[in-house]
Amino acid sequence: MHGQMMNLPLTITNIMKFADKVYGNSEIVSVTADNPYHRYTYADAFRRVRQLANALARLGVEPGQCVGTLAMNDYRHLELYYAISCSGMVCHTINPRLFPEQLEYIINHAEDQYLFLDVMFVPVLERLVERLPRVKGFVVMTDEAHMPASSCLPNLICYESLIAGEADTFDWPELDENEASSLCYTSGTTGNPKGVLYSHRSTVLHCYGSALADSFGLSGRDVVMPIVPMFHVNGWGLVYSGPMVGAKLVMPGAKMGDGETLCTLINEEKVTLSAGVPTVWLALLGYLERSGQQVPSLQRITTGGAACPQPIFDRFRDQFDVEVQQAWGMTEMSPLGTYNTLRPHMVSWSEQEKTPVRLKQGRPVCGVDMKIVDDNNRELPWDGKASGAVKVRGPWVIQRYFKAGEDACDAEGWFETGDVATIDADGYMQITDRTKDVIKSGGEWISSIELENVAMTHPLVAEAAVIGVYHEKWTERPLLVVVAKEGESPTAAELLAHFQGRVASWWIPEACEFVAEIPHTATGKVSKKDLRVRFSDYVWPNKTGE
Ligand code: AMP
Repeated sequence: MHGQMMNLPLTITNIMKFADKVYGNSEIVSVTADNPYHRYTYADAFRRVRQLANALARLGVEPGQCVGTLAMNDYRHLELYYAISCSGMVCHTINPRLFPEQLEYIINHAEDQYLFLDVMFVPVLERLVERLPRVKGFVVMTDEAHMPASSCLPNLICYESLIAGEADTFDWPELDENEASSLCYTSGTTGNPKGVLYSHRSTVLHCYGSALADSFGLSGRDVVMPIVPMFHVNGWGLVYSGPMVGAKLVMPGAKMGDGETLCTLINEEKVTLSAGVPTVWLALLGYLERSGQQVPSLQRITTGGAACPQPIFDRFRDQFDVEVQQAWGMTEMSPLGTYNTLRPHMVSWSEQEKTPVRLKQGRPVCGVDMKIVDDNNRELPWDGKASGAVKVRGPWVIQRYFKAGEDACDAEGWFETGDVATIDADGYMQITDRTKDVIKSGGEWISSIELENVAMTHPLVAEAAVIGVYHEKWTERPLLVVVAKEGESPTAAELLAHFQGRVASWWIPEACEFVAEIPHTATGKVSKKDLRVRFSDYVWPNKTGE
């Protein structure tokens, strides 16, 4: 028997209409290239969203087609999120830090009709434009006064002029909740980047799950500053979940790594909650400690995207009375999988007792079914000791990559995350290793395999492997491990120089170590696991933490 409740679709449009009606006077404060402090209300934002929707229709973008963005966190990017998705188009957020071949691939693969970009990314696309035949036009997210004086980008449009004359009413289409809303590519593993196509339904359900008290714990009294870029998994959904609860949003634009700006924004706007990768927290901590400033309004920080080192928890707690909470997830999971808050019996524990719990990645959020399995796909116990591959399923977990011919999950719907972890009796997952061969530096992926391929083209290298090693500032950096050809003795400097111009500069290994032999598995593959153990206490030459 069917229930007899209203079968209304779960859509981003409904979050927008709700936030407009109920929380129209909540504020959004942004730092942009053309305005150091832009301030308006949700009602203002959604009025401009309707103008933008009219403009997108006038440009001739059809429902289901992709519109790309290369932009930092600010109010215009937020307007695009809503206008594109609620018009039935797909908001394709692009990571401008990818290197040209990857950008070219994903823009063409997504068949982006228009690209909206911050002024600072105009040169990035100018270098590529000849290889983007399908893009019909480029909209620079600024006003006429700040448009580039000249550019080789054809059909260059100014965002403010685009929406200026448009009506501020729009007849939003009735969307099926399973229609695509947004697209984000994930890179780092072998092969081309892979697209993850979110639906309205997955986004709305993720919003509910991530706003829960034991997730981000969002409330309308929060002032939320997402420092995670909006091109990383929809800014962890805060641009949707914030409006869902009516929270004030503070968007730091291109100043996300600038401790001074972040501190000023926190204090002037009374930020209560912020979210980002560990590298951002080190920048903020460094500034706060140097300047002697406090951040009294800031209550908690969500750190995710990479394991968070203990000093970040300790320094924020002891010196600034800020609680750091860890979350784990991935692009394929919208992203939230686990969140770390304390169980009731832990609340009275000493800080020393709480620390090992806080260092874990957290407990699954309701909506994410999780298990760990051994090499034979047998489920392992939640005893905090058995370590296995993490598999997940749920309504905001990927089923199939964009345009792929087969599902990304197994027949029972389990998606393998590529992370290896233990889960304890209280449900806390702790990552112990990775099966995917990648390195995450400052929140961005580096492909070990591509670096190894480059290293192997050097005439004096017999075998090379690249592993991620803990780095205080960037969480991980690539270490090149080399067996030199017999009778040859290349220097580390000459091997590292070999990467110049062959990969993005931030991919170049931090150091090179020579070994007599690289460990192999029974099947003859390089045993990254053994290499990682061997270099687990590695101290970077000449730089620690810088
Ligand atoms: P991405 O798809 O770029 O968001 O990357 C997802 C991957 O980042 C996960 O599969 C993990 O390997 C890693 N990751 C994310 N959050 C954490 C965390 N809190 N601790 C350790 N690794 C993490």
